[in-house]
Amino acid sequence: MKSADLHLHTNFSDGTFTPEELAGHGARLGFAALALTDHDSVEGCARMGAACAAAGIEFIPGTELTAELDGTELHVLGYFLDTNNEKLLMEIAKFQTVRQQRIHQMVARINEMGVPLEVESVFSLANCKSPGRPHVARALVKAGLVKNLDEAFERFLKKNRPAWVPKSKISALDAIELVHQAGGLAVMAHPGLNRTDEVIPALVEAGLDGIECFHTKHSTAMSAHYLEIADKFHLLVTGGSDCHGFSKGKPLIGGVKLPYEHVEKMKAKVEERKFSTTDEHR
Ligand code: AMP
Ligand code: ZN
Ligand code: FE
Ligand code: FE
Repeated sequence: MKSADLHLHTNFSDGTFTPEELAGHGARLGFAALALTDHDSVEGCARMGAACAAAGIEFIPGTELTAELDGTELHVLGYFLDTNNEKLLMEIAKFQTVRQQRIHQMVARINEMGVPLEVESVFSLANCKSPGRPHVARALVKAGLVKNLDEAFERFLKKNRPAWVPKSKISALDAIELVHQAGGLAVMAHPGLNRTDEVIPALVEAGLDGIECFHTKHSTAMSAHYLEIADKFHLLVTGGSDCHGFSKGKPLIGGVKLPYEHVEKMKAKVEERKFSTTDEHR
């Protein structure tokens, strides 16, 4: 049966695979379609699109935005984006600047704790415009300042730990609008991780298109729960592995296989919207 993975990260954000490596794994695993959803970035989409085309895989350009509603953090996925959309690129550039400033703040706090991590080591390891906590953690391991990534998060980087700096977040309602004006579909990522069911009606009201029912960290019961919610609010169903590279010795991609029929429904909605906006301009 044809399947898709619609939640993937590369080294254009905090994933460890290049777009070519990721597409290679996707081909080996027999995926019919893949979407790239790097945090606050669409920069990897050109290379990922080319690598997928070469491997005979359908490619969906996307991103994952860190958003909030009523003080609750949630992630908004954008799919079928026009990656040249000016407003989208302008907003993404702002998020990236804030991410870079946040690296300086986190490293300063780590330094205040007497741990001599050099900020340049984080930026050179990250080597992308969208650096995040995983890059700080990896730089700490590389410099021999912690034993492993878990220790880095436990001692410094987890929420409410000394070097944790909250990320500035776009309002989820604005995120949905940003995705729509770039021609895309807006989807609520891994709702089971954020435990944010109470915000779903407001997101639907703002035009949310879909909900990520299948995710590596969703139990079968959670997926069933969100399938019911998708049905209730007439939302598209999506899913993906949220692969950031190797996990426990093997690539995380392959663990979630979304039936391709859901991709077809997404494409139908994108087309439908294109026609309705053309009508409005007549
Ligand atoms: P950031 O966007 O900079 O806040 O970093 C978020 C990323 O850090 C997530 O996408 C995860 O990949 C990773 N992450 C968050 N918490 C942990 C943790 N406790 N251990 C390992 N990785 C984590
Ligand atoms: Zn990530
Ligand atoms: Fe996420
Ligand atoms: Fe993700």
